[in-house]
Amino acid sequence: MLGAMSRQITWYEDQAALPPMPTDADTARVRLDAGNAAFAALGAAGAELRIPVGPETFGLAGPDGLHQEPFAAVLGCSDARVPVELVLGQDTNDLFVVRVAGNVPGSDCVGSLHYAVEHLASLQLVVVLGHSNCGAVSAAVDAMLQPRGYLELVHDPALRGVIDSLLAGVRMADLALREIHGERVQHHPGYRDALVGVSALANAAVSATVLAADLNHEVVMGVYDLATRTIGSPGADDTWAPGLIEAPGDDDALAELLARAAQAAI
Ligand SMILES: [Zn+2]
Repeated sequence: MLGAMSRQITWYEDQAALPPMPTDADTARVRLDAGNAAFAALGAAGAELRIPVGPETFGLAGPDGLHQEPFAAVLGCSDARVPVELVLGQDTNDLFVVRVAGNVPGSDCVGSLHYAVEHLASLQLVVVLGHSNCGAVSAAVDAMLQPRGYLELVHDPALRGVIDSLLAGVRMADLALREIHGERVQHHPGYRDALVGVSALANAAVSATVLAADLNHEVVMGVYDLATRTIGSPGADDTWAPGLIEAPGDDDALAELLARAAQAAI
């Protein structure tokens, strides 16, 4: 028996109620933004999210057989607090999901995305999804701030590989914070938290830019904010702008995005 105040997510089979498949990147992005907004609205007591799905979601053949038909591919973090299909408010068969700690674009992950882009005709969009308070990003930040601790990773080359992949983004975030707030920012009590936050954005942005060139495909990005359950990026005037954004097209666009994040972070 569910209490009146309990929240619900329901995947229910109803072929006739399925929304039309997005046929371009823009429609795909709009649908993901709407799905995340619906998920974020579950913060209200008693809220319910009902998602119509096809029989494939239950492992059963649909009208055309048991095919995967994702309209978007997502590179996200393994963090259990960021279940990709749920936070984007989609059916399981809507998304081709690659999850790895820190959403780092290692060769196996990029290879999986190559496969999706080349072989899944339904695919319209590739998404890089970072998130706030990421453990892998925090570990990379601490590796830079306290190199002595990094030495312990010598005995775990696989984990070190994840951390090493994140260090470039941490350096960019550090640079952005220093440029906006001055060199003394490293003594600010909120510096480490700010560095973790800006680094998650930098990591997602760099990955998205690299993937856009590598896949020769439309790539968007965003950061899932654990506190508000919204996916977005820092907007103008220290605001949080919900919605996925295009991968930064060049160094200037990346620098501008990180400057906004650095401004808002402290
Ligand atoms: Zn994470």
